[in-house]
Parts: sequence; C-alpha cells; structure tokens
Amino acid sequence: MTKSLAILGSTGSIGVQSLDVARKCGYRVEALTANRDVDKIEAQIREFKPAMAALADETAAAELKQRVADTDTKVYAGKAGVCACAAESEADTVLNSIVGIAGLEPTLAALHAHKKLALANKETLVAGGQLVMQTAKKENVAILPVDSEHSAIFQALQGKPTNRALKKIILTASGGPFFGRSKKELEAVTVQDALKHPNWDMGAKITVDSATMMNKGLELIEAVWLFSVRPEDIEIVVHRESIVHSAVEYDDNSVIAQLGLPDMRIPIQYALTYPERFESPVGELKLSEIGKLTFFEPDYEAFECINLCKEAITKGGLYPAAVNSANEEANALFRQGKIGFLDIPKRVAHVLHTAPNVQNYSLEDILEMDRFARKAVLSL
Ligand code: MG
Repeated sequence: MTKSLAILGSTGSIGVQSLDVARKCGYRVEALTANRDVDKIEAQIREFKPAMAALADETAAAELKQRVADTDTKVYAGKAGVCACAAESEADTVLNSIVGIAGLEPTLAALHAHKKLALANKETLVAGGQLVMQTAKKENVAILPVDSEHSAIFQALQGKPTNRALKKIILTASGGPFFGRSKKELEAVTVQDALKHPNWDMGAKITVDSATMMNKGLELIEAVWLFSVRPEDIEIVVHRESIVHSAVEYDDNSVIAQLGLPDMRIPIQYALTYPERFESPVGELKLSEIGKLTFFEPDYEAFECINLCKEAITKGGLYPAAVNSANEEANALFRQGKIGFLDIPKRVAHVLHTAPNVQNYSLEDILEMDRFARKAVLSL
C-alpha cells in the first residue's frame, strides 16, 4: 500500500483531485510541483507540509520561496527542480499529472530513482513510449495508469488468463462537445464551444483535445505502450454517457468492462491503492437512474486527429512524438484565438508528413523532434 506521494502538477485538475484522495486515504505528501500557480501551491504546502516543492517557472519559484520561508518546505526551481522532486523525495510513489511533454523528463527521473509511477501524463508515453517502457523495465519499476480509460483496461485485465493474450481493447470516447457534427459544421466552432465538455471537468488543453478527439488518438498510442498491443487491436467506440470507461475482449468473445461515475478520483485512487481497494469519496453508480448507455462508431472524417495518431504509431519511432508536439502547439494557438478549430488537424498532419524518420531514439532525439514540430506548426 502506498504511504507517501510526490505529486507533480499538483495545482491542475488531476493534481487537486489526487490531493483529495491523499487527504481521504491519509497518505503523506512528500513533494509537490506545479508550473507557476504560486497562490494554489502555497495553500497546498501549508496544508500537506511536504519536505520539497518546485515551480517550473523560475520567477514564480523565487516568489514561492519567500512566501513559504516560515515553513519546513524546501523550494526548488525550474525543470531541474521538478525532476529533483520526482527523484529525491522520500515518496515511494510519484503521481505525474503534468500536462504535455514537459512531463517526460520528470517521468524518467522518477523511474531512474525506482519510484513507483502513477501516470496521468499521457504525453510522456506518446512522445517517448519506447524509452519510457525500456527504462521502467530496466529499473524494474511499475507504471500504473491514471487515465480513466487505461485504468479501466488495467482493472479489466486483473485475473487475465495466462494461456493467451487479450484479443482486443475497446477504448471508449465521450465524443466531446461536437459529437454528431460534420466536418463542415466544425469550421466555425469557437474556443468557448470547445471548452464545454459534456461529462468531464478537466484542464483546458485536454478539453480541447477531447473536442478534436486528438485525446482519443493519444490514448490509443498510450494503450499500445501500456498494454503491449498493436494499434489495430484497439477499437475506439464513442460512448456518450462516460459510464463504461473501457473494456477488453478475450478469445472467447467475453468482454470485461469497468464502469463508474465519470470522476477521476476513482482511477487516481486505484493507481495509488492497487492491488487493494478502499472506500471512495465518489458516489455510487446507479444504473437504473442512468437508464441507458449508447455506443457509436467514431466519425473519422470529422475527427481526423484519431487517424493521424493511428498513422503515427503505425509508422513508429518518433512520429508519435512529432504528432504530440505539433498538437500541443496547435492546441495552444487555437486557445489563443490565433487559428481555427480545423487548423489543428491540418497542422498536425503537415508535421506528421514532413517529420524525419527517427526509429531508435534517445531523450535528446525526442526533445529535438519537439523543437522541429513546434517550429513547423508556427511557420504555417
Ligand atoms: Mg482519458
């Protein structure tokens, strides 16, 4: 059972909910990191009294250091500071909920330090899946999924027969706020429209990724790495109610799914308490109140980001990293009102089709591809 945690990205949506789980389970918090939200992390430091804290933004870190000078928390700055919190605290488990490729180096730092990794930062696996999985294997460290779909798959795989691998993963998708719209109807959608997710309350980047369905493409790549399956063994199904969080199908066509209310505290808690289960602050699922569950085939023409991700993971190497970084940049430009909604897949496709083919890669190669992809998106 987990007794102590380092939470990376503690001021974001997953970070705050992770602290809620830590509070309820009575876990000790040894380290907290965030990007630049001084007010929020200061309040968290005062409540949880971690030994270490870091802000990626150096100016914000300097301010935080002054603000919490009366506490016993040591404040670190920059990327190195975040990596120090991932590797050097007393925590036995690192929960990484950093947004984007910024989470990659802290993930590697945690693995090298033999910390159990509860992973909410899917971009870590999308951009550096081969390197991350090799490192986890070499260091003999477990990676436990926090992403709700991957937690569902992981839960459905408990008790998996040893004679055969699973036949198929059924990855469910809410379909986001634009479900049912044609490509033409997506042309003029606004940032405000894209930020209205029907079921999940999440940060802005992932909410826009849900609207483009890039999030499902990234999750497909994440599942390939976490569960050692081929992209063609994953079927994406739109499920509007977000109650079935994903499923696996075995050779006998038996399908095992995990269901629950759409609340991230369930998968967060399972990653922290695995293989045990405890009471949860989340409400009970009342199926008769929900009444019906619906399932649809995704519209691959309107939401072409899914296909771009499939193409990238099939080509392998650093193509998923290229797609991920291109999306991070295009997603940000859309949120800033600088490009249209359909420019996101357009720019991602451009990067995918112009990126160099790099198959066996190092961390430096990933960071180089990140620079290439962002520059290419900005230059269009
Ligand atoms: Mg998810």
